[in-house]
Amino acid sequence: MEIIENLCDITIFGGHGDLAFRKLMPALYHLSNNGYLDEQSRIITAARVPMSNEEHCDLVKSKLQEFLSDTAFDEEKFDRFKKQLHIVTINFMDNESYSGLEALLSTHPDRDRINYFSTAPDFFGMICKSLSDWKLITAQSRVVLEKPIGRDLDSSRVINMEVLKYFNESQIYRIDHYLGKDTVQNIMALRFSNRFFMPLWDANNIDHIQITVAESVGVEGRWGYYDDYGAMRDMVQNHLMQLLCLVAMEPPCSLDADSVRDEKVKVLRSLRPMSASDIEFKTVRAQYAAGSSEGEAVPGYLEGDGVEESTTETFAALRVDIDNWRWKGVPFYLRSGKRMQKRNSEIVIQFKEIPHSIFVNKGKCISQNKLVISLQPKESIQLQLMNKIPGLSEQMRLQQVELELNTPLNMSHKPDAYERLLLDVIRANPTLFMRLDEVEAAWKWADVILDGWSEEIVPMKSYSAGTDGPSAAIQLIARDGRSWHDE
Ligand code: NAP
Repeated sequence: MEIIENLCDITIFGGHGDLAFRKLMPALYHLSNNGYLDEQSRIITAARVPMSNEEHCDLVKSKLQEFLSDTAFDEEKFDRFKKQLHIVTINFMDNESYSGLEALLSTHPDRDRINYFSTAPDFFGMICKSLSDWKLITAQSRVVLEKPIGRDLDSSRVINMEVLKYFNESQIYRIDHYLGKDTVQNIMALRFSNRFFMPLWDANNIDHIQITVAESVGVEGRWGYYDDYGAMRDMVQNHLMQLLCLVAMEPPCSLDADSVRDEKVKVLRSLRPMSASDIEFKTVRAQYAAGSSEGEAVPGYLEGDGVEESTTETFAALRVDIDNWRWKGVPFYLRSGKRMQKRNSEIVIQFKEIPHSIFVNKGKCISQNKLVISLQPKESIQLQLMNKIPGLSEQMRLQQVELELNTPLNMSHKPDAYERLLLDVIRANPTLFMRLDEVEAAWKWADVILDGWSEEIVPMKSYSAGTDGPSAAIQLIARDGRSWHDE
């Protein structure tokens, strides 16, 4: 086991919320058990409801049993882990309630301090102010911000500026959990450590690129949050844009945080702004209607929580163009939606056809090579190639075969994205986190589309729950003579 000494105090604000129990505690439990967190490090939950340390440990235990796989929870390991658990009662609206946190943190004034804001962004500014009033922000402090950071450029600026009053940009870690997935990081390894992709990764050889993030679930009781955001703000502006950046960016001069983020921001600044007519013809927005999911009837978006009217999209599809030398003329098709037929996130790099075929393939054209990077439910990378069908037939016949890039996993536990990202915060490595200029460039581009949608430039379409989205999304790509990967 690799043991790395990472001594710090981690305070989770909103520590009894869904994200904290479902993702953060399990990630910290694994990091601690696997030797990535010094056993003297403290995990401090800031919760609104008063609770004894013992009650808190019991609650964390029951949540770990619920959210860890059966084999991952271990009584003995938990008994060690619980020594790191602490609880303080804090109401964000009450500055005085921070006294317990101050008492705890001041026992180790020189330790690295990680403040994880697992709360609605409306609280970010006031938590920062209280931390500052209580002199709890030191040069060794870092802050992790959960999405959503605003719902447009202006509101994201307000939130970021509030936090920047108290923390330097280098102390701020804006999390995008997609970037914590191994396969996503592997995009850089694949592109920048394999010679044969180097000459192929451009407009001369790539026909187009597709990025899909499809969920089979609906809004699952999060209507209040989701209806303020929708697919474009919740998924496209952040997760899909980050994936697009990793696929499209130029090789950074090194793997250090700013070199990587400099290249990503150049991509975002090269996105072609959409005109009104682009919004009309290159974007699709839609809401799911009643349908079925995994064999069960499910209500439509507007039937779920007693809300009858909403102009929030649960599906978005777009054709995106990047105006730079490498990608001139290569469309990026993006789509994301809820209540889709299946949970599926993938990036498809579709290479161009060969210039001339010497093979007669029963009148069918030779299929083009594809690189398919699957992010969920399974993480895999597959290269689709043409191969001879074995046998003695007179004419050489071809078939498509898949070259699977399987990574041998020499570990009993495959780390979750939050584990990777929390460990990076502990190690003070911000490479996989979004810098302010990235967030702003992505909003600037997305705002134009969102404004066009609010002016009804493109009508809201409908799709049945449990399908691949509206027919308009199929037409969006079919108009260019192409089709979605799974069609
Ligand atoms: P949540 O379950 O509502 O948790 C929010 C927490 O904040 C609750 O524990 C709540 O305390 C606490 N809180 C609210 N007002 C407070 C106050 N005045 N003083 C002290 N504590 C207060 O939300 P969540 O799902 O964990 O999400 C947290 C953040 O992460 C949100 O911004 C969300 O958008 C983002 N996020 C969540 C997920 C996810 O999977 N859940 C994924 C990505 C991003 P009480 O328990 O006392 O109400």
